[in-house]
Amino acid sequence: MFNIDKITRKNIQQMKAYSSARNEYKGKADIWLDANENPHKTDLNRYPDPLQLRLKQEISKLRKIEVNNIFVGNGSDEAIDLLFRAFCEPGFSKAYIFPPTYGMYEVSAEINNIEVEEIPLTENFKLPSSEKIKAQLTTTGLLFICSPNNPTGNSTDRQQIREIANSFNGLIVVDEAYIDFSENESAISLIDEIPNLVVLQTFSKAYGLAGARVGMAFANPTIISVLNKIKPPYNINTLSMRAALDVLSNNETIATQINEIKEERNQLVLELLKLKFVERIFPSDANFLLIQFSNSSKVFKALLKAGVVVRNRTTEVENCLRITIGLKIENKKLIKILKELQG
Ligand code: PMP
Repeated sequence: MFNIDKITRKNIQQMKAYSSARNEYKGKADIWLDANENPHKTDLNRYPDPLQLRLKQEISKLRKIEVNNIFVGNGSDEAIDLLFRAFCEPGFSKAYIFPPTYGMYEVSAEINNIEVEEIPLTENFKLPSSEKIKAQLTTTGLLFICSPNNPTGNSTDRQQIREIANSFNGLIVVDEAYIDFSENESAISLIDEIPNLVVLQTFSKAYGLAGARVGMAFANPTIISVLNKIKPPYNINTLSMRAALDVLSNNETIATQINEIKEERNQLVLELLKLKFVERIFPSDANFLLIQFSNSSKVFKALLKAGVVVRNRTTEVENCLRITIGLKIENKKLIKILKELQG
């Protein structure tokens, strides 16, 4: 049976969390003399709410999950780092990753001195069988499933998440940064059923706020309370919180943009398939495509020369570029440049 106390670092269990002025008194008042702020009123002279209650209430409505199941971080990258700090012990825990995948899992593991164990995806970028994965899970730690996966674009099915979680004493972290572009149901609905599941989402992709740095972790309240205990007191600033609230109050615009991006993704696939030097386009549930060219470096350089920056992923997947879906006009230009290159 999974037991969160068994994987929470002893120093974290024993420490007392920093208690900020805004944590200690939460009621209404006329005069605030508790936080050494400058009393002259501007838009930003007060510290933000350390636990981001208003924002969490909106996220709660959007994702249909209780406020105490939600952690908000300075990008989902902050949540990844905090998970290592709280639930991994150097020399004992491991980070299990399925390459090719998002690079920060490994970087964060290394920063926290946690050994990385790679379990490569299959040729079609699927997770190996649950049996095979289970056989490699020899210790506790964090196991990262990126779904839809960056850079391959495909998703992992829920049944496999269940199967792996059942036989792992650490945390299964399902990173859903791109879930809004996918037709699949979020793993958030599995949280009640799987006590060692953490789901990551972000405002950086579909919600258009990469510059604001707002990410989310969803999990059972015990895990969330550990993350809240160790996070910097005011990890989400007032401007970012406001930006996130604004975008949530304008949900229809985002829905329209998501649909447009998905349509553009389909259109781009059709156009790319016509090009001779495109060898393969991997099916994508995300807002990017992984494309295999006969010579990706040549295409990469030609695009750069024409002022178009894409991501060269050839060291991870041979001859592949990862191309984000842009505006219609940008995608048209991309195709035009590629057609010219083909001659
Ligand atoms: N997860 C994945 C799979 C990503 O691709 C990214 C950003 N490239 C992140 C997490 C980080 O997101 P955030 O901006 O919320 O830190």
